Amino acid sequence: MAKENYNPLANAQAQFDKVADYLELDSGLRALFREPMKEMHFSIPVKMDDGTTKVFKAFRIKHNDARGPAKGGIRFHPHETADTVRALSMWMTWKCAVVDIPLGGGKGGVVCDPHNLSKGEQERLCRGYIRQLYTQIGPNIDVPAPDVMTNAQHMLWMLDEYETIMGQHLPGVITGKPVGMGGSLGRTEATGFGVIYVLHELLRSENIPIESTTASIQGFGNVAEYAARKYVERGGKVVAISCWDQADSKSYTYKKASGCDIEQLAQIKDSFGSIDKAKAKELGYEQLPGDEWIKQDVDILIPAALENQITPAVFPNISKKVKIICEAANGPTTPDCDPLIQERGILLLPDFLSNAGGVTCSYFEQVQCNMNYFWEKDEVLEKLEKSMTKAFRAVYDLSREKKVYMRDAAYIIAINRVANAVKLRGWV
Ligand code: NAD
Repeated sequence: MAKENYNPLANAQAQFDKVADYLELDSGLRALFREPMKEMHFSIPVKMDDGTTKVFKAFRIKHNDARGPAKGGIRFHPHETADTVRALSMWMTWKCAVVDIPLGGGKGGVVCDPHNLSKGEQERLCRGYIRQLYTQIGPNIDVPAPDVMTNAQHMLWMLDEYETIMGQHLPGVITGKPVGMGGSLGRTEATGFGVIYVLHELLRSENIPIESTTASIQGFGNVAEYAARKYVERGGKVVAISCWDQADSKSYTYKKASGCDIEQLAQIKDSFGSIDKAKAKELGYEQLPGDEWIKQDVDILIPAALENQITPAVFPNISKKVKIICEAANGPTTPDCDPLIQERGILLLPDFLSNAGGVTCSYFEQVQCNMNYFWEKDEVLEKLEKSMTKAFRAVYDLSREKKVYMRDAAYIIAINRVANAVKLRGWV
């Protein structure tokens, strides 16, 4: 099946169903966990710079809040759908549970392409999002954060609108804020660094020195850039990076066999994670078609851009050298590809474990906002590495003990924790 025909919600449900069967979960819990508990669909009218009004479709979806307030990012994307947001909210529930933070799962989205919006239009869109939603979010209800194509500035406009309406300072309503405005040091790096904390722990467990490994990455946005930085800092070599080119409306893979210079590439990317083609050429990068990233002869593949990128159709393109797929994006592998990955003996670090660094640091941000006292960056990152490695260890050990795929082990831990909270509350 072509990538675009996969439905993320069906994928999330298929992953859940497999483990629900394994755990022999009762029908009440299954029904509760297969769908979000609450959905808000709304329209945001925005005054455009040319004097016209444009209406944007938007969502906020809460999957489950038995373990704490719902938590999850807001995406700006032209192809955002309710099912994508539903799936992402579901993965947030499992993500918070697998790293054992007291939060539930939620997600938001706006159907828009911020590349085509001025700064003023983006600000009015952010404020409009909150005007539609302010009764349904709050530090103890549902706490949004940045995600694809949203950043700290978007979060601050949203916070300012919320606080203006509520007439008080409530910085815990949103995370991913700028440092000095209630944001946590280390939040920008947290998701990408968290991916590598987990990957490094897996390499140690498998007795593979990180210095001996190579990787190819899809994406060069917030997650991919900081994952690449940490991986290189710890001794790994990134040979290829693929990203979207807005001008050509297609993706490219930038390759340097001697190793990509991440700092150099970061200097020539825009705020949406697109690398400047011409400048990359001047710096000696080979420019290949976008899907070449997956064909590279490397030890590790790190999909860090989009969902549905590793499917049975593209699986034969993956080099026999690949030992690890480290999922950094949400839902990059389709469920029908998991058996192929398992058969070939590739170790898979599941998305909701490996990219949980962002939400863990968001939780730290909430804690700091509640205390109105902020930690040094080293302290944040040290706590983050501890949480991520602890979560990894539980998943890895269970997968060895029960002889199950690491994705399934992560689901077993997460589902059991949420099921326990639901039962203690008396919901089922
Ligand atoms: P981002 O918007 O900063 O970057 C996205 C990157 O993907 C960009 O480099 C873009 O060029 C690239 N891209 C888009 N389409 C592509 C294509 N067809 N081929 C190759 N590259 C393409 O987003 P991000 O925040 O880095 O998020 C990436 C993924 O990680 C998403 O799945 C997101 O949900 C997930 N995630 C993000 C966070 C976070 O804290 N930012 C946390 C957890 C999970």
